[in-house]
Amino acid sequence: MAEITRIDTYVLKVKSGAGSFYSSQEYFDERSSLLVRITSSDGTVGWGEGGQYGPPEPPAACIRDVLGPKLLGRDPTAPTAIFEELYSRTRDFGQKGAYVEALSAIDIALWDIFGKEVGRPVHALLGGAIRTRVRAYGTGCYYPPDYQDRPTMLAKLEEEVKRIRATGVGAVKMKIGLLPIKDDIERMRLVRTTLGEDVDIMVDANHAYTASAAIRIGRAMEELGFLWFEEPVVPEDRAGYRRLRAALDVPIAGGEAEFTRYGFRDLIGEGCVDIVQPDICACGGFTEWRNILALASAHNIMVVPHVWGSGVAVAAALQALAIVPRAPYTANPVPLQNETMIEFDRTYNPLRDDLVKQKFVIEDECLTIPTGPGLGVDVDEDAVARHTVRHERIG
Ligand code: CA
Repeated sequence: MAEITRIDTYVLKVKSGAGSFYSSQEYFDERSSLLVRITSSDGTVGWGEGGQYGPPEPPAACIRDVLGPKLLGRDPTAPTAIFEELYSRTRDFGQKGAYVEALSAIDIALWDIFGKEVGRPVHALLGGAIRTRVRAYGTGCYYPPDYQDRPTMLAKLEEEVKRIRATGVGAVKMKIGLLPIKDDIERMRLVRTTLGEDVDIMVDANHAYTASAAIRIGRAMEELGFLWFEEPVVPEDRAGYRRLRAALDVPIAGGEAEFTRYGFRDLIGEGCVDIVQPDICACGGFTEWRNILALASAHNIMVVPHVWGSGVAVAAALQALAIVPRAPYTANPVPLQNETMIEFDRTYNPLRDDLVKQKFVIEDECLTIPTGPGLGVDVDEDAVARHTVRHERIG
């Protein structure tokens, strides 16, 4: 039997330059992530990712100091058994956040190895593909650094939304929550006018509002026919989520700041969301993804994952999306009525575009799910080295 002989972590950072922007929460002038490379005694290598929301150093430290040493000598083709053990042995201090992000990266890398060992894609190991490609929506329409200059801000928004649409996506997600509600409604109207009635539009507030403020701007989304309202209130405000879901017709989405089957049991079970958005690189990898899919399916709600990372994160999301059941089943799946989508960030990010050798190409508004072994992509180790600011080795 092969065993795990080595774990490498790579903290990646790249400056955003002219592509810097604000969300409702903060200014992004660099993109960062944590990649994990696990090596098996037979030479097989698997890649995983975590730590792409906040600073990547804390999950890297969890792996270096706590989780990595426990992996040495283990069977790399037992990702679920390893997740169950490592989560259980860190739950007293690690139920959410850095530890689970670290576990997610490890889990993804182990499934990648497992797939390569048996010559099958991860989605085959998870039970088989329900779809071969998935509709992509483009994330962008943040705020430029000079967002207080209103004519320039609006001109840049119009230019950006056209650029995103031109990349081939059939749906666009815009950001709100940094400006007064009346100004963001003006931005929402501009995006609708620019894209026309045939393009789906979603809105993400990154938890900028109280429930009452969110209801006010949510009414405008209903009028404009937007397809979802993402993270309207802080993730801790479960009552606020429920209030919004009862008050508004626009579907309520959230979950990128939630972790593991336990967190999603509560978010879904308490009736907070119409569309749940776990991130494979944060929620607990493929192992917890599968558990969250079961919870969502049992509650008849849609799963549309949050994706915000390098090409490894995109590849993992595509594998994960292959197995999402229609919610509910119909003979003809309809995007965002019962059929899932992939979030495809359209902001400047070399980590997304350079790290894997295969390019993610949008065709007919869809990305194709790779069918090669493991994650189905090859990581460009030269590109990883180029963007690495800290490399550590265990074993
Ligand atoms: Ca979001």
